[in-house]
Amino acid sequence: EGVQSLTPYQPGKPIEELAREYGLAPDEIVKLASNENPLGPSPVALEAAREALEEMCRYPDGNAFTLKKALSRYLAVAPTQLTLGNGSNDVLEVIARCFAAPGAEVIYSQHAFAVYPLVTLAIGAQGVEVPAKNWGHDLDAMADAVTDQTRLIFVANPNNPTGTVEGEAAIRAFLDKVPSRVLVVLDEAYCEYLSGSDDEVDGITLLQDYRNLIVTRTFSKAWGLAALRVGYAVSSPSIADILNRVRQPFNVDTVAQAAATAVLEDLEYLERSREVNRHGLRQLEAGFSELGLEWIPSAGNFVAVDVGDNAQGVFEGLLEQGVIVRPVAGYGMPRHLRVTVGLPEENERFLRALTRTLATHG
Ligand code: PMP
Repeated sequence: EGVQSLTPYQPGKPIEELAREYGLAPDEIVKLASNENPLGPSPVALEAAREALEEMCRYPDGNAFTLKKALSRYLAVAPTQLTLGNGSNDVLEVIARCFAAPGAEVIYSQHAFAVYPLVTLAIGAQGVEVPAKNWGHDLDAMADAVTDQTRLIFVANPNNPTGTVEGEAAIRAFLDKVPSRVLVVLDEAYCEYLSGSDDEVDGITLLQDYRNLIVTRTFSKAWGLAALRVGYAVSSPSIADILNRVRQPFNVDTVAQAAATAVLEDLEYLERSREVNRHGLRQLEAGFSELGLEWIPSAGNFVAVDVGDNAQGVFEGLLEQGVIVRPVAGYGMPRHLRVTVGLPEENERFLRALTRTLATHG
C-alpha cells in the first residue's frame, strides 16, 4: 500500500535530452536545477578517481578503511561512528529500513526533502507531516507530534528546497523534548555552506549529549562529487553497528572512495566552493530585488524564489531559453522555483532569462 502511494522522485532531465528537446547546443544550457557544485570537480579528486579506475576489476573495500580513517580525522570522530552510503540518500534509506517498520510513525516537516516520505512509505511506515513555520521546521510542533508509535524524526538543516536553517539553541531545545527512544536524523547535506555565518550549527558536536541522534552528510554538494554517490552518517557506535549490518556490503565503489578520501585534503576547493556560493547568493538576491520578487533567505547553495501564480509557465519560459531550474510545486510550493547558485555568468544568464520570461509569462 505504501509503495503504491509513492510518487516517483523527479530528478532533473539530463542536459543532452533538454538540448535536443529545445533545439539548443548542450553548451548553451545552464543547469541550476540539482544543487550541484558549479566549480566542476576538485583536480585532486579527479586525479585520485582516475588512478582508482585501475582497480575496477576488483571489488571495493567493503569497510572503506582509508576513507573512514580520513573522515574520522576530518570530523574528529571514531571510525566506528561512521556509516557510508551510496550518497546520503542511501544512508537515509538504510536508517528507515533499520528503525522504522509497518505501523511505526516517522515525522518530517512540510516542504522538507522529498526522500523522507519516500523511504518512510516504501517500508510501509506511516509518514507524519508537520506544517512548516515561516517555511522552516516547526520544531516545537514536531516534538509535540511524537506518539508511542514514533520511531524516527527527519530534520533537514539547512532544509531543501526552502534553504531555512535552525540554530544550535533551537536544535538542542528540540532534542531535549524528544524522548530518547525516538531517533532524530539531522540531515546536514548543506552544512559546509554555513561556515562563518551566525546560524552555524554542527550536529556532530551534539552527538555526545544525545545518544538518539544521527547526523547525515554528503560529498555531493560543497565537495563536488555528486555523480560518485558518497554520503555518510555519524552516530553512536551502537547505531552505526546496526546501520552497517543492513547496508549493502559494497555500497560505495572504489573510485568514489578514492575521490572522497582525496578531496578531504583539498580544503582550498572547499573554501572556493563556499566563496562562489556566498557571492552567487548575493548576486541572485540583488537580481530578485530588482525584479521585485520575494525569496526565502537561504543557508544552502540554492534559493527558492516566489515567481507568482504561473511558476510552471515561468519554468517553461526559462527552459526555452536554455536555463533549467527546479519547480517545487511537489513540495507544496506552487509559486516558487528553486534555483541552484551557479558561477557568476550562469547566475547572470538565469537572471536575464528570468527578466525576459516574467515579461511574458509572469
Ligand atoms: N539531503 C538533502 C536535504 C538533500 O537536498 C540531498 C540532495 N538533494 C540529499 C540529502 C541527498 O544527497 P546525496 O544522496 O547526493 O548525498
